[in-house]
Amino acid sequence: MVTTMVLPTEARERLNSFEIAQAQLDQAAALLNLEPAIHALLREPMRELHVTLTVKMDDGSTRIFKGFRVQYNDSRGPTKGGIRFHPDETIDTIRALAAWMTWKCAVVDIPLGGGKGGVICNPKELSLRELEQLSRAYVRQVGRILGPEMDIPAPDVYTTPQIMAWMADEYSMLRGQNEFGVITGKPLALGGSQGREDATARGGMYCIREAAKVLGFDTHGATMAIQGFGNAGRFAAKLGPELLGVTVVAVSDSRGGIYNPGGLDVQAVIEHKQRTGSVVGFPGAQPISNEALLELDVDILVPSAMENVITGYNAPRIKARIIAELANGPTTPEADRILAERGIYVIPDFLCNAGGVTVSYFEMVQNAYDRYWSAETVHARLDEKMTRAFHDVHKKALELDVDNRLAAYCVAVGRVAEAVRLRGWV
Ligand code: GLU
Repeated sequence: MVTTMVLPTEARERLNSFEIAQAQLDQAAALLNLEPAIHALLREPMRELHVTLTVKMDDGSTRIFKGFRVQYNDSRGPTKGGIRFHPDETIDTIRALAAWMTWKCAVVDIPLGGGKGGVICNPKELSLRELEQLSRAYVRQVGRILGPEMDIPAPDVYTTPQIMAWMADEYSMLRGQNEFGVITGKPLALGGSQGREDATARGGMYCIREAAKVLGFDTHGATMAIQGFGNAGRFAAKLGPELLGVTVVAVSDSRGGIYNPGGLDVQAVIEHKQRTGSVVGFPGAQPISNEALLELDVDILVPSAMENVITGYNAPRIKARIIAELANGPTTPEADRILAERGIYVIPDFLCNAGGVTVSYFEMVQNAYDRYWSAETVHARLDEKMTRAFHDVHKKALELDVDNRLAAYCVAVGRVAEAVRLRGWV
């Protein structure tokens, strides 16, 4: 008897994020009847820089790090997007993230293109001094293609307002003048914006609120599970109860998760993580793996960590009614197909997590005018942008009878294509 090995779907699916981003674009291009030259242009990054960084370590040795900056498309304005410090960083991940930034800025209709940067490193193994040296070295190498009118970085996975402050300082030193506008997500004392820290999560909560309205579903008392407890996940855990009245029953970080069906005391979890470095071991909750958290019987699932966590392998077992993607690229195309068949309502990443870049844009505007807004003004303007973007996508999904991701692509790619045509590039 011949037996064939059946791999789990997870292993069979190709999980190269850039190939996924290109395949998603291809679908939208077909639906939009996009001119072949515009389609070909939008499949590739416009420009990328690969750099080698040297850092003098605390023990006196010198270490070499690889870094990247990808400027995907600037037809709608200067490129914009975060910088990631991660040991598993690859150029293809950065390309995908830069493409998604392009669609993200277009879907919320801010006058920016898309970019992304990254350094292959493990920030958890670096001292504060080494981290500062690495951040400054990155700007010394990449600074030549940055600038408020060219390309404006921001925080992303494992980068913080302090890192933005060092980078803004290094860039200002290179230029010989103050240049707060070169980077966003800065601390308030250095030209940062009110409301930037929780903006990604807040924008996602506004999307969930609008999704609940169109689904005729009450978020008060609904249950929420959050994968990831970085900037996006931590603030989702705080703002979900505050803005939507949900009960957060599970959260996780890279070391594992915690679950309490009766609800977690989010503030106490935040303090536990500050004290111990992880949510794991929080008293009054049972441990749960990151994988099991995704399959919990909850109303709202919020992936807020890394790419490719919802795959063809686990999508059949996901029980949430709404998936709000605060992470970039958490769902694979095969998972998308399964979730759509199962009627699960997905708020796609570059719509759901666009709050961060939207408030980054507000930060740029405030830096340019040297006048600063109140938190209330930032929240109200963010709400207006997110609500409009949500309904643009929702309407498009109904009009074309497609899922929300493809609808978001059609809205965003349509806007970028219009800019490309108007500039006369194609
Ligand atoms: N890194 C965030 C994102 O993926 C924010 C980018 C920005 O503010 O420029 O959307």
